[in-house]
Amino acid sequence: MDHTEQQRLGAPEPVALRQAPLGGQANSGAAQRLLEAQVPYYAEQAGEVALFEHAHRQCLPLLIKGPTGCGKTRFVEHMAARLGRPLITVSCHDDLSAADLVGRHLIGPEGTVWADGPLARAVRTGAICYLDEVVEARKDTTVVLHPLADDRRVLPIERTGEQLVAPPGFMLVISYNPGYQNLLKSLKPSTRQRFIALNFGYPAPAVEQAILQTEAGVDAALAARLVKLAEALRRLTDHDVEETASTRLLVMAARLVASGVPLLPACQAAIVNALTDDADTAAALDEVVRAVIGHGG
Ligand code: ADP
Repeated sequence: MDHTEQQRLGAPEPVALRQAPLGGQANSGAAQRLLEAQVPYYAEQAGEVALFEHAHRQCLPLLIKGPTGCGKTRFVEHMAARLGRPLITVSCHDDLSAADLVGRHLIGPEGTVWADGPLARAVRTGAICYLDEVVEARKDTTVVLHPLADDRRVLPIERTGEQLVAPPGFMLVISYNPGYQNLLKSLKPSTRQRFIALNFGYPAPAVEQAILQTEAGVDAALAARLVKLAEALRRLTDHDVEETASTRLLVMAARLVASGVPLLPACQAAIVNALTDDADTAAALDEVVRAVIGHGG
């Protein structure tokens, strides 16, 4: 059974799930192995797996804060599969309205029919609903999120008069990148205080190295070099880059190398050029890349 249903409104882009065994779990019996094979690989940072399990058990909604490409989405995918819940992911954007989440009437050959949006579908099916970059969504979405995120756990569907009560399996997970925040785009305290919150950063070096080895199939030495490069790039603060080298970019560089691209052009394509359009900034980043990985690459 595929636990992941991608609902990328306005951005239809499938997520590639890499599958690997659950770390540290007893591996007994065919059923256990089958379950493990369906759980996307996720290297834990600091106790977040148990925290998510407790939150799910206690019917508490979760907010994950962290920079892009640090593992938020993979974490939620891993947890949904681990808990045996379907996952419905919505990538929020500035046009996303409450109706996009809840549903709308559609006109078909049979007349007008109601079509559930991803949030209503998640509530009906007891899924985990993940709203990625929730601060991007239109403000009217808070009207439907608030009653779902507090003790009521209900989704009122104004247009049909229904009031959906969330079953215990349902969980609301939202994320945003605090680095992108501005005054117009931030969570209201009344929204924020309905969620327990996890702060994500880039994984510790040993964890990030293990991720590169698993995700890209590169050896320990190459993975360690890329992690060193990331550390050097992340120390640069005075350059005009909105974001720094994420784990996602490192994985892409490692995949290029695994496929036969030499290290230097792989890092230039996957990291330097991906991070900036500005020629001076690119030159500064390139200098760091050459200093850390060497000209021979
Ligand atoms: P975010 O949602 O924070 O933008 P993702 O979860 O999409 O980032 O992570 C980007 C990629 O980085 C993933 O597809 C995966 O290859 C890798 N990755 C990052 N963190 C982890 C982790 N802790 N375990 C496994 N893979 C990870």
